[in-house]
Amino acid sequence: MRKKILVLGGSFGGLTAAFEVKRLLGERAEVTVIGKEDHFVFLPSLPWVVTGRRQGAELTLPTSTILARRRIHFVHGTARNVDPVGMRVTTDTGSHDYDYLVIATGPHLANEEIPGLGPEKGHTHCIFTLEAARQSRDAWQKLLAAPGPLVLGSTQLASCFGPYYELIFELDHELRRCRMRHKVPITYLTSERCLGHMGIGGLGPSRRFIEDEFAQRDINAVVSRAVTGVEPESIHLDDGSRLPFKLAMLAPPFRGVAGVADLGNPRGFIPVDNYYRHPQHANIYAVGVAVAMAPREPTPVPTGVPKTGHMTIRMAKTAAYNIAADCNNTAPVAVEDLNVLCLMSMGKTGVMMFADPVLPPRQKSLLKTGRWVPWAKAAQERYFLWKMRHGLSRLP
Ligand SMILES: Cc1cc2nc3c(=O)[nH]c(=O)nc-3n(C[C@H](O)[C@H](O)[C@H](O)COP(=O)(O)OP(=O)(O)OC[C@H]3O[C@@H](n4cnc5c(N)ncnc54)[C@H](O)[C@@H]3O)c2cc1C
Repeated sequence: MRKKILVLGGSFGGLTAAFEVKRLLGERAEVTVIGKEDHFVFLPSLPWVVTGRRQGAELTLPTSTILARRRIHFVHGTARNVDPVGMRVTTDTGSHDYDYLVIATGPHLANEEIPGLGPEKGHTHCIFTLEAARQSRDAWQKLLAAPGPLVLGSTQLASCFGPYYELIFELDHELRRCRMRHKVPITYLTSERCLGHMGIGGLGPSRRFIEDEFAQRDINAVVSRAVTGVEPESIHLDDGSRLPFKLAMLAPPFRGVAGVADLGNPRGFIPVDNYYRHPQHANIYAVGVAVAMAPREPTPVPTGVPKTGHMTIRMAKTAAYNIAADCNNTAPVAVEDLNVLCLMSMGKTGVMMFADPVLPPRQKSLLKTGRWVPWAKAAQERYFLWKMRHGLSRLP
């Protein structure tokens, strides 16, 4: 009998899992992706949308078209509830039965947890969705026309730090190119315990590297602080101080999304074992940002562990393999440790950071700088979009 495999979320994790399970099981599987958005966006290039180096259309693929090529169904909708006993997902348009479920719904960006935060109801911008990055680009253009203090960084419980480091270096570079840097004081505000920590205790010498770069570029840092509220042009911090800004772009706290949160921990992230299976429901898998991953050690201000695109793809392939193994009555594979690779563009130069495993202590870590990094990042973007366009999940 054909197995019904339902995937929630149509991004890095969801598309990779769907393509891979279809490749492994072929016509023995009826694979359906339910996605809130009807397009895939290559998120790592969103900092370049803010600077104008990329337009959104260059980073976007139509989900239904790329899935149809591999005979995978697409439902454009939002999962509202999972019934793990009845093995059914309810969406805003109907309900869907499954034999296996893959949760790849990413984060809920919880602006509502900090008064005044966020582009919709607050006073800060964000770069975590294409729409938000476009709004940030417009706000950046306004800052260039009427310069003033710029604040970038991450609030408490954010779990994706790299993009704001990348953007702060890119914007510093842009300002110098326009000979305006002296008109725009820049501050990096973060919940991280130290610069370069990134929620994972740093990657090799990332702390020293970021501190040196900030010193050379005259970027002020406010570290290990929580944001208690935001007013127009003023950020309130947990030590009672205020940070003035003309433009602020801040990563919000992360939560799991509402439709799957009942299966998760108190913040809605889904616990998994080394097979990426839910510990209580063996036919439910979770991958990517939706997964619960505890930091190695508590930090004075709580931060989340980032789950990068590379990590997400590895999780998605593992989940797909294990679903196929279960269907074939063969042994599943376990992943003990993931590694992390980060390419950060910094204007004309950039940095590559690698850490294995993600959380310390580490077997290996590496940090290399050079003008080749922005090129490598652009090549990675082209390669990944090509791979997704053709459903080639088997490739690295
Ligand atoms: C600005 C930025 C820069 C980044 N840079 C890098 C980088 O350089 N290198 C790197 O490796 N990683 C990078 N990352 C991280 C990488 O993008 C993530 O690891 C990856 O997107 C995680 O994939 P995901 O599928 O788990 O979640 P997401 O990409 O967040 O996708 C989740 C999907 O689920 C959908 N969804 C949400 N709720 C529901 C619901 N209820 N029902 C149905 N669908 C739902 C969402 O609309 C979305 O399409 C970056 C991320 C950002 C935001």
